[in-house]
Amino acid sequence: METIGNTPLVKLNSVVKGCKATVLAKVETVNPGNSIKDRMAMKMIEDAETQGLIKPGATIIEGTSGNTGMGLALGCILKGYNLICVLSDKQSKEKMDILRAVGAEVVVCPTNVEPEDPRSYYSVSKRLAQETPNSWYVNQYDNPSNALAHYEQTGPEIWSQTEGEITHLLVGVGTGGTISGTGKYLKEQNPKIKNIGIDTYGSVFKKYHETGIFDENEIYSYITEGIGEDILPKNVDFSVIDYFEKVTDKDAAVMTRRIAREEGIFVGNSAGSAIAGLMQIKDQFTEDDVIVVIFHDHGSRYVGKMFNDDWMRERGFLDVDHKTANDLIANHLDKGLVQCASEELVSHAIAKMKDYSISQIPITRDGGFVGHVDDTKLFQQLLDNPELLDTPLENVMQKALPMVKEDTKIDDIKGLINQETPAVLVELKNGKFNIITRYDMINAL
Ligand code: PMP
Repeated sequence: METIGNTPLVKLNSVVKGCKATVLAKVETVNPGNSIKDRMAMKMIEDAETQGLIKPGATIIEGTSGNTGMGLALGCILKGYNLICVLSDKQSKEKMDILRAVGAEVVVCPTNVEPEDPRSYYSVSKRLAQETPNSWYVNQYDNPSNALAHYEQTGPEIWSQTEGEITHLLVGVGTGGTISGTGKYLKEQNPKIKNIGIDTYGSVFKKYHETGIFDENEIYSYITEGIGEDILPKNVDFSVIDYFEKVTDKDAAVMTRRIAREEGIFVGNSAGSAIAGLMQIKDQFTEDDVIVVIFHDHGSRYVGKMFNDDWMRERGFLDVDHKTANDLIANHLDKGLVQCASEELVSHAIAKMKDYSISQIPITRDGGFVGHVDDTKLFQQLLDNPELLDTPLENVMQKALPMVKEDTKIDDIKGLINQETPAVLVELKNGKFNIITRYDMINAL
């Protein structure tokens, strides 16, 4: 239990390029349950024990997106309680498997139902708590110990790690515990500090904060995990939050991958959402600003999702490769196009292939392309009839190579190259020509 907290603050470099401020990530993955939620899970259990709400041998019940469940599971192991975690079916399989691995019973509920629906994970957790003898329903949404854990731990840690230099706190908001507790503490130290909440499309927070309206039209199912809500948890203290920024599922997922690949920090989906949100509003910040961003949980919980190419592709989250003919010829553009006239001899073409280490040559007549020769077919023809060496190319040439423009997409070029057609000609804007061969295609793919 003593290994919870005192997590590192790490300066980000690559993914925040273009933002003038210093951006520091509070990397919460080093907690024993690999997420920030260990802090509040342990605090909620211990406060409930102090208040006499949990008796020996009790069953603890919670609706959780996974991370709180993990923190509770570790606490329950150490303190001898049973744990039932109620999850919605959009949560990653990894999170469910991990909870089972640490001894929790996992109950899965549908995502696409109203919170009041008896099948929702809010309703099922409450019902299980009523039905199970000697049980305690944690209710992280409204339990004040949640925000208090961050007021007592996360806030003071950030204040002392930044030596009071922090100007902005930026946090993905779910139950609201992290931003409200941490943000309250920081504003008490320096009222000028701004707390920025990151919200998802499909969640009610931003509109409610800006207008005071709980708009049900804002609610729809979304993919981002851990943040955004279709309810107003008591732990969201709107008075300490200065601004909410919404981030799309795609932008969050893409940035989650970038943080791993460009920073070497393997963290979860809400970290991606937070950095994507920060970059959407980057122009607000100056060189003097010090922004602390919370990285809530570990990337291992998302290996079947945001870190899986097939999963990303199925949702249209992986950008299609928009390479064009221009990209394919870039590394040999300066060499120009090697060609032969149709009346030149086959032996000349072979000499040129040797000199330039190439496998095919387009053939011209009267300024136009009328055919091509390639080494494989030429070799076969010469084996059958060695005298062809001294005949004009027009006697042995194959059909002319297809012609594309500089901005033709690679996807449209792929289909043109086959057994009969070893290359494609490219008509350049300056009136000259170049060539894309099989090797150029293989390199590009
Ligand atoms: N990110 C992740 C991965 C989470 O599990 C949570 C908690 N739901 C959050 C962010 C949001 O934190 P909080 O509940 O304290 O607002």
